Formats: sequence, structure tokens, C-alpha cells
Amino acid sequence: AKDAGKNCYYIYDVEKDHQRFERFSLGSDLRKAIQNDELVLYYQPQVDAVTHHVVGVEALVRWQHPSAGLLPPDRFIPLAEELDLIVPLGEWVLREACRQMQAWIEVGLPDMKVSVNLAGQQIAHERLIKSVEEALEASGLSPDCLELEVTENFVIRQPEVAIGKLTYLREQGITLAMDDFGTGYSSLSYLKKLPIDRLKIDRSFVKDIGIDRSDESIIKATLAMCHTLGLEVVAEGVETAEQLAFLKDNSCQIIQGYYFSKPLPPEECLQYVLQTAPL
Ligand code: C2E
Ligand code: CA
Ligand code: CA
Ligand code: CA
Repeated sequence: AKDAGKNCYYIYDVEKDHQRFERFSLGSDLRKAIQNDELVLYYQPQVDAVTHHVVGVEALVRWQHPSAGLLPPDRFIPLAEELDLIVPLGEWVLREACRQMQAWIEVGLPDMKVSVNLAGQQIAHERLIKSVEEALEASGLSPDCLELEVTENFVIRQPEVAIGKLTYLREQGITLAMDDFGTGYSSLSYLKKLPIDRLKIDRSFVKDIGIDRSDESIIKATLAMCHTLGLEVVAEGVETAEQLAFLKDNSCQIIQGYYFSKPLPPEECLQYVLQTAPL
């Protein structure tokens, strides 16, 4: 028994070391990744609940790591935040997403929005407005075609400053969406104050449609409230026909999730949009 205990300890320790090493080496790689063009954007279609036409795409970053392969954002976004790399990373995402959407519009795609996730640190940063304006200018994309997704959590620090900047951006024609709705702190009290156009219902509620009555009630209540407030609603993480039917019955306008499509590399996303476009 003693030996087994020792072994367990040993395995645990190696695992810890491995994690520490991964964080260390990924961290120094991440600094270079932004310059070396190793980041890539995938795009997930957002679909009209009634017509099933694509009305927008969310840009989701991945890291094409030279030895570790394609890394999902959960593996490096928290690291980027810790190492103060989230601002340059976020600026790259903004520029690339705007460039791609303008390129698609120029080859004849119907006007649609590209949604970009903003980290709290980006919103707090003094360069926020400048970097959004630069991304639009460099690409030539119209502000009507850009949506910024923010989470509730950013408003905890300096809410007035953050709200002021977001209000300014919205006045320029950019759409603002509240991401991960229902998972943060101040949902209802801030809804009134925040300059938002859209709300995204978090996947944790959507996944229990048909399973958990209380999740269904929360979704219904959120939709009813948004309709009264004049906010559009996007449901995230829709995977089944049953979830889609429930959301449609309750007048949710926009659907995002594997039921329609996973996030796709740019060429595949373009194909998806063209195949589902109105004739
Ligand atoms: P998010 O903004 O909530 O993005 C939605 C996530 O849900 C994506 O994961 C997407 O692939 C996944 N998803 C979409 N539909 C379904 C579904 O039907 N089922 C399931 N199981 N999952 C679904 P992804 O791409 O791994 O991104 C994870 C998170 O990383 C994002 O969550 C976002 O918080 C963050 N992230 C991604 N790109 C960026 C970025 O450019 N900047 C910042 N700051 N964060 C980003
Ligand atoms: Ca998002
Ligand atoms: Ca989300
Ligand atoms: Ca539940």
C-alpha cells in the first residue's frame, strides 16, 4: 500500500511538472505566434431560426502550433490574458475578421455580420476604440457588418468607463452582443444600462431543453424579457432538432450551434453560406 501511495505521488508530480512546462513553453511560443501568423480564425454560422439563412458568423480563434497541432482557445486565451498578450492577440483577431468579411462581401456574399469576441482586458485598455477603428479602416468593412461580443464580467471594474466606450462604438454603427448570458454576475441590473442590441443565451441553458424544466423556464423568461426590451436573441450551442423547435416556438430569432454547423475554416464557411443562401 505504501508503494502504491508513492507511485501515485510520483505520477501526480510528473503531471504537475508537465503542466508547468506546457504553460511555460506555450507562453513563450505565444509571443511569437502572433507575429509568425500561426493564429487562424474559424467561423461559425449564425442562422435565422425561420429561414435557415446565414445572417452572421462568429470568429473563433485557433492556434496552429508548429508541433502541438491545432489548439482550441481554451488552451491559450487564459494564458494570453495572464501574460498581457490578449490585447495584441485580440487586435489581430479584429483585423483578420474584418479583412475576411470584407473579402467575402467583395466576392458577392450578401451583407452579413462578423462577430468578434472581446476580452475584458481589451475593453479596459485605452486602445480599444482606436483598434476597432483601425481594423475597419484597414479592411474597408462597414461598421454595420461588425458585431462585438462582450461578457457580463467586464463591467465589474470601472463600469462607467467601459459603458462609455461601448456606447461610442455602438453610435458608430457597430452591433454589441452580450455573450454567455445567464452565467455572469450582474445579469439583470446591467441589462438596462448596457448599450446592447443582442443577447446570447449560454449553451448551459440550451443543452437541457427537453430535460430540465427550470432551464426551459429561464430561456422562455429571457426571450420574453428581450422581446419587451427590443433585444434580439441568439441561442448558443443548439445541437438538436428538439432544441431548435423549442427556441423557434418561443420566438428566438437566431440560432448558433452544431445542429447547423461547427466553426469552419474560411473556405468551408464560404461554401456553407453559398449553399444555404437565398436564390
Ligand atoms: P464562446 O464565445 O462562448 O464561443 C462559443 C463556443 O462554443 C465555441 O468554442 C464553439 O465552438 C462552441 N460551440 C458552438 N456551438 C456548439 C454546440 O452546438 N455544441 C458545443 N458543444 N459547442 C458549441 P471555441 O471555439 O472552443 O471557443 C471557446 C471560447 O474561447 C469562446 O467561447 C470564447 O470565450 C473564447 N474565444 C474564442 N475566440 C476568441 C477570441 O478571438 N478572443 C477572445 N477573447 N476569446 C475567444
Ligand atoms: Ca462568443
Ligand atoms: Ca458564448
Ligand atoms: Ca440544468
